[in-house]
Amino acid sequence: MSGFTYSQKSMEIAGGEGVYLTDSEGVEYLDFGANYACTPLGHDHETVQSAVADQLDDLTFVQAVYPVETRQRLHETLAAAAPADLDNVWVCNSGTEANEAALKFARSATGNTKFVAATHAFHGRTMGSLSLTWKDKYRSHYEPLLDETEFVPYNDSEALSEAVDDDTAAVILEPIQGAGGINPATVEFLQTAREATEEMGAALVFDEVQTGLGRTGRMWNHERADIVPDIVTSAKGLANGLPIGATLCRDWIAAAYGNHASTFGGSPVVAAAAEATLSTIHDERLPAHAGEMGTYLRERLERELGDSVRDVRGEGLMVGVEIEESAADAVAALAHDEHVLALTAGKHVVRFLPPLVVDEGHVDRAANALAAVLRKE
Ligand SMILES: *Cc1c(COP(=O)(O)O)cnc(C)c1O
Repeated sequence: MSGFTYSQKSMEIAGGEGVYLTDSEGVEYLDFGANYACTPLGHDHETVQSAVADQLDDLTFVQAVYPVETRQRLHETLAAAAPADLDNVWVCNSGTEANEAALKFARSATGNTKFVAATHAFHGRTMGSLSLTWKDKYRSHYEPLLDETEFVPYNDSEALSEAVDDDTAAVILEPIQGAGGINPATVEFLQTAREATEEMGAALVFDEVQTGLGRTGRMWNHERADIVPDIVTSAKGLANGLPIGATLCRDWIAAAYGNHASTFGGSPVVAAAAEATLSTIHDERLPAHAGEMGTYLRERLERELGDSVRDVRGEGLMVGVEIEESAADAVAALAHDEHVLALTAGKHVVRFLPPLVVDEGHVDRAANALAAVLRKE
């Protein structure tokens, strides 16, 4: 048996450039899934590729106890991109690890043990973050998980206020749920989370692994609620396809982090990729561009699909289309018939997370493709 945990798509991918992937038979696909938002600049982006090549020339790896210029530059760039006051940067290798660190730091800094999360949340698949992930299909084979956890209905501010008490170490929320179905939090819910945690001395953690880095039209999605959390986690597109995660913390969290580390965290090669990715997002004003293209995408989808779908929702280039039919079937038909790659978010939501660099022509093609697929079903 080999490679046993993943089901396989029908096409073998041979290469990629910009917003396109090419399979081994030379068929080109418009990539509107970006492999779960992991390639915000598109495939094989020149600035990232050359930063990685230069670093590989100099040095592949030393552990984070050795100061290395590339890593230092990433820390500075990441601190500058972080929300105000969250300029303490801890770098690891994935989203789930970034959330594990957030949970550990929150326990250490507060001295409390309980965690509060939301129904339909997805925070990762290691034991700690899995304990705060909602769906049974991810959890059931591996229980028991952490027991001092409580789920409140997403967007139920009253339930959230009640759940946060003086045993609470942290509340963790996605400002827009990704895997859960592209569900945006209300501003009221996010503000309630801030007020309740502040009152009880608990940490507020926003998991921006999918929503962050400009995708929703802002660097961090929670900024729309005009509040500052204690911890933000990032990963997915942060190194444009190389493995990375980051936990951004306020001083009171960072000062009490305890004893936590990761052997490969902040590896120079990955740090070079992440520094180039963040600088490009900043220099090319991609958050604003993503906001504009996202508005255009939702308008086009609404015009093409109209009342034939249940809902078109999301912000910026994080868009969900809720349909009557099976989302998995629609996504398969999009790839097969239209050569457009998309994702699902639950059974009835087609999810688009295109690279931030898409233009109107790409958006037109994706919207027309989904309309064509749904007309046939
Ligand atoms: C993907 C994702 C994670 C987990 O990231 P991994 O790198 O797969 O561990 C956590 N939270 C959110 C919101 C995600 O979308």
